[in-house]
Amino acid sequence: MAPGCLCGFRPGVGGAHARGGALTRHPSHSMFPHGGWVCGLSRRLLTPGGRALPAGAAQGVRRPLSSAPHAPQICIVGSGPAGFYTAQHLLKHHPQARVDIYEKLPVPFGLVRFGVAPDHPEVKSYGAEEKRELGIPGEELPGVYSARDFVGWYNGLPDNRHLCPDLSSDTAVILGQGNVAVDIARILLSPLELLRRTDVTRTALDSLTHSRVRRVWLVGRRGPLQVAFTIKELREMLHLPGTRPRLDPSDFQGLEDITKDLPRPRKRLTELLVKSALREPGEKDAAHWAQAERQWGLRFLRSPQAVLSSEDGGRAAGVRLSVTRLEGAGEAAVAFPTGRVEDIPCGLIFSSIGYRSLPISPALPFLARQGVIANSMGRVQESPGLYCSGWVKRGPTGVITTTMADSFDTAQAVLEDINSGVLSCSDPRAGAAAVRDLLLLRGVRPVSFSDWEKIDAAETARGVAVGKPREKILDPEEMLRLVRP
Ligand code: NAP
Repeated sequence: MAPGCLCGFRPGVGGAHARGGALTRHPSHSMFPHGGWVCGLSRRLLTPGGRALPAGAAQGVRRPLSSAPHAPQICIVGSGPAGFYTAQHLLKHHPQARVDIYEKLPVPFGLVRFGVAPDHPEVKSYGAEEKRELGIPGEELPGVYSARDFVGWYNGLPDNRHLCPDLSSDTAVILGQGNVAVDIARILLSPLELLRRTDVTRTALDSLTHSRVRRVWLVGRRGPLQVAFTIKELREMLHLPGTRPRLDPSDFQGLEDITKDLPRPRKRLTELLVKSALREPGEKDAAHWAQAERQWGLRFLRSPQAVLSSEDGGRAAGVRLSVTRLEGAGEAAVAFPTGRVEDIPCGLIFSSIGYRSLPISPALPFLARQGVIANSMGRVQESPGLYCSGWVKRGPTGVITTTMADSFDTAQAVLEDINSGVLSCSDPRAGAAAVRDLLLLRGVRPVSFSDWEKIDAAETARGVAVGKPREKILDPEEMLRLVRP
């Protein structure tokens, strides 16, 4: 299923009830491989962190948008942040609406649960479904992992529970300089006592306990002015206990003069990079770095060319980078190979070059190159009654607040279409009942919201027993046994 969410609503105009309604009434069987998860939200509203909104939040209507005789029945596919924020806005502004959220896993919250780094509980959000491949020789060698799989592994995503990454190399190279790359570097280098207090899985904690990784390089094909991570994440890395940065001053010389003309977030980020690379550290940092046993660094103008194999060909032993030069300036600068190459010996390589959405159905207009559903302000093109929000709407960029604003916009488009009569509420709709019948027909036993609460209680109790906020259950069968003893 694609990241982000799709809202389906059966429109009542001239025979146009094709795809939105079709989605509601015929969810793909593969969406419910483990029994699925269904949540009716007409009374209870949850935020993406799983926190129930205060009573009455759903009644805070600012302007009545519908005088329709029948309550709109809205189906949301995907229970990640985009799905929940869309539901929140719909229910807040249309208290009669009935919103049902469908999820392929037996547990809700998508990448809030499975994507956000365990040591960032306050963020708990961003998302994506499918990894992007580098397309270079040797990518398939043991020792090379996609960021998505590794993040899924330490976050307890059932599909990745058997990943078992080999952390016996002292050097790791992360290809890409986005926030996911920084998340991975931080998880690899963080002191265990910090991770033990998070909901990182027990399996990951055990592996990290035996990890030999001491040095992590984050490699970018462009320069310091094009890094994709944000200042908060950089600051955290600079102050990570027991760890010191290795920034090559020559990469940053001359940048001080141009920072003043940069847009504000980029300006602040570049100033911090320049200061960390070119100025003497303060007393506190100097003391901290002098004792550090682990280190991380940034390598610029290096594009991945090949993964080098060990002599017996059995595993990764390094990465060959093509040295690049930039044409153009700022965000738009493009990297071109210079013809020179550089090798970094290492036994652990992560490809962290962003995510990609997948089409949910061949019937939907999907722009494969951008990885988004063709849409206008969330309205899926040529599919009245069908809407999208989140990364599947705009591509895999932005943080939680971006997804929130984007999901509210989509929900607003739904409300406007109800209000203007583009979506008719004049006939009664079967809504969730039709989906339930279909699932029964297919022999699928959905997991309900109260079922999820049993899984939640079990995970929390297991966490309390070992001093963590939660011990995630990794096996969907075990989850199902808890709800259907
Ligand atoms: P990202 O921000 O898009 O960064 C991808 C990185 O990979 C960039 O450095 C990019 O360089 C590089 N890259 C892309 N294609 C490449 C190629 N073919 N060869 C070499 N390098 C390549 O992706 P992400 O780190 O996966 O993050 C996804 C989204 O989630 C972002 O919006 C991010 O901010 C968000 N996120 C937020 C948080 C948080 O709030 N704490 C945490 C994690 C993720 P170029 O710029 O040259 O393309």
